[in-house]
Amino acid sequence: MSLRKKFVAGNWKMNKTFIESSELCKNIKQGLDKKLTSDVDVVVFPPFTSIYTVSEVFRDSGIMYGAQNMSYKDDGAMTGEISASMLSALGCEYVILGHSERRQYFHETNQIVNLKTAKALSSGLKPVLCVGETLEQREQGLHVKVVDEQITLCLKGVCAVDMENVIVAYEPVWAIGTGKTASPEQAEEMHRQIRNSLENLFSATIAGRTRILYGGSVTDKNAGELFSMNNIDGGLIGGASLKHEAFIQIINSAL
Ligand code: PEP
Repeated sequence: MSLRKKFVAGNWKMNKTFIESSELCKNIKQGLDKKLTSDVDVVVFPPFTSIYTVSEVFRDSGIMYGAQNMSYKDDGAMTGEISASMLSALGCEYVILGHSERRQYFHETNQIVNLKTAKALSSGLKPVLCVGETLEQREQGLHVKVVDEQITLCLKGVCAVDMENVIVAYEPVWAIGTGKTASPEQAEEMHRQIRNSLENLFSATIAGRTRILYGGSVTDKNAGELFSMNNIDGGLIGGASLKHEAFIQIINSAL
């Protein structure tokens, strides 16, 4: 039995109006055995416009929710941005930071992700820090180096105590939304490497305690095998989290 509680999260990306979100959450809540949420941390990440609705449906259910991004600034002239305190006021517990789509389409660098990580932690939000290599980097044999650099730069200045609240998600860019999943062995190897990076940065204890999720085309068919690997502590699920049956099945396979 692992020391680390399994964690299954749904990243809805830019999908679902608040009405559709309400429907999806009701179905998840109904289909999920209440006991399950004490054995597995279940978190959904809806778009900002649905967070309030999701908070209402999930009230007292044990199912948690968070945001897909946030600003590293506190407030002020930042048109279109959302602050950590706005998310906390809605009852968000987690925030996804450094997702590869943010890095790719919105030019978020490791330095920006580091600022956001620091802001989330100082505001009481728990970051789900996403790292992962592109196909080109893997083909050049750079995957371990790239991910180590992402971990090192994004967690710069984070203290050991705050690491209790950090979740890492390994998401190879070539596997996100492509239907191409990393094999359980490929994922396990990278999760072990990430634990090595965490040990070098912090300590063996922290490396052993930090939950590392796999993300990239996880489905109800492949989740069980991935989650059974020693260093895989759950998943960050995109497409398959938009259908309640598949998402519930994936949560069940984390047990
Ligand atoms: C993601 O968005 O984090 C993700 C892993 O997406 P998908 O499961 O659709 O590949």
